[in-house]
Amino acid sequence: MNSQIEQHYLMNVVERPAPVMVRGRGSYLWDESGKKYLDFVQGWAVNALGHAPREVALALARQAELLLTPSPAYHNAPQLELARRLCEHGGMTRATFCSSGAEAIETAIKICRKWGNRNRSGAYEIISAQNAFHGRTLAAMAASGKPGWDALFPPYPPGFSKVAFGSLAMMASAISASTAAILVEPVQGEAGVIHPGVDYLRGLRQLADAHGLLLVFDEVQTGMGRTGSLFAFEQAGVLPDVVTLGKGLGSGVPLSAVLVNARADVICPGDHGGTFNGNPLMAAVGCAVLDVVTRPEFLEWVRLRAQQLRCGLDQLASRYACQTRGQGLLQALVLETPMAEQLRDHCFDRGLLLNAPRPNVLRFMPQLRVSADEIDSMLETLAASLSCVLPAFQPSAGVSQPSTAVA
Ligand SMILES: *Cc1c(COP(=O)(O)O)cnc(C)c1O
Repeated sequence: MNSQIEQHYLMNVVERPAPVMVRGRGSYLWDESGKKYLDFVQGWAVNALGHAPREVALALARQAELLLTPSPAYHNAPQLELARRLCEHGGMTRATFCSSGAEAIETAIKICRKWGNRNRSGAYEIISAQNAFHGRTLAAMAASGKPGWDALFPPYPPGFSKVAFGSLAMMASAISASTAAILVEPVQGEAGVIHPGVDYLRGLRQLADAHGLLLVFDEVQTGMGRTGSLFAFEQAGVLPDVVTLGKGLGSGVPLSAVLVNARADVICPGDHGGTFNGNPLMAAVGCAVLDVVTRPEFLEWVRLRAQQLRCGLDQLASRYACQTRGQGLLQALVLETPMAEQLRDHCFDRGLLLNAPRPNVLRFMPQLRVSADEIDSMLETLAASLSCVLPAFQPSAGVSQPSTAVA
């Protein structure tokens, strides 16, 4: 029945398993047959507070009774409050809102181009990283470095160049008179959870300063506590000029943001906008999410659970000759062989939802209030699936012990 509906009416934008999800609560999802799934995908790192969080339901219900939207032509209280709180927490000056991560990136691109036009004699080029993911509008795709995307929808808007992620030397040599900005994810998410190290992020700040460029951090996936601090850049001790937020900011509702410092504060009336941008319904949710994630014990919990998850994954990695990498509750298991999708499907059948962003990478992005028991239970199911799908690691001659990357 569902597969018939999909075949006839729904565009096939992504391969999906057949079950239809009908209900969620915390770390669990249920399909229409009543089967329960332990969810370590959480809407692709969206549901920071888990499925159907009470705080979000209450904020939606309260705001829906008060005001859905007065239009962007008039102020609304939740938008003003969310802007103030995000700027204060992020050390930035001003915020603007939209509905998706890709739109936040579009906005950031406009800011870079306008800034370059004014301050760097018309420089418009943005240097981003190979394998980066910044969303699926045409300009966001042009800024992304996902393999195979070049061929999908040419011609793309010009003005984007790519260098290897993690190399300051490559970044430095790509900078020219037409460069306006550097754009990177502090941890590459879709590329398979690649942490470049704090020295890289610091080095980018120095390069941007030395050449007079804007530095943009795309924190759509890493922001809102996912990596153990409210923003991932805090752990590197650097401040960007522009930050994009999405995913966890709305914890399940469409809400994204762009924050700028005084230097990058170039947007004027007429430059940008959108019918739903900054609507009070979504902004009220953003405030409710911030209430939770800015409690000091909340981030402490994220760091403790992250340690437990990483430790458990490290144990499995040493048994199966794989590697682990990641930061906070954004972790990955990197396999020796391209078996990630097979493992994901095996786990799915056993009621565990995992994501395979690359043929050899499994990604773990539980809700940030995940319990110790839920992590243990995930590790147990994963271990069982690994033992079915992968041969155990034989520590014999010629095979070196697997090592682990950045914690
Ligand atoms: C998901 C993601 C985006 C795109 O967000 P959408 O809401 O899907 O448009 C952009 N950047 C990063 C780093 C992401 O992880």
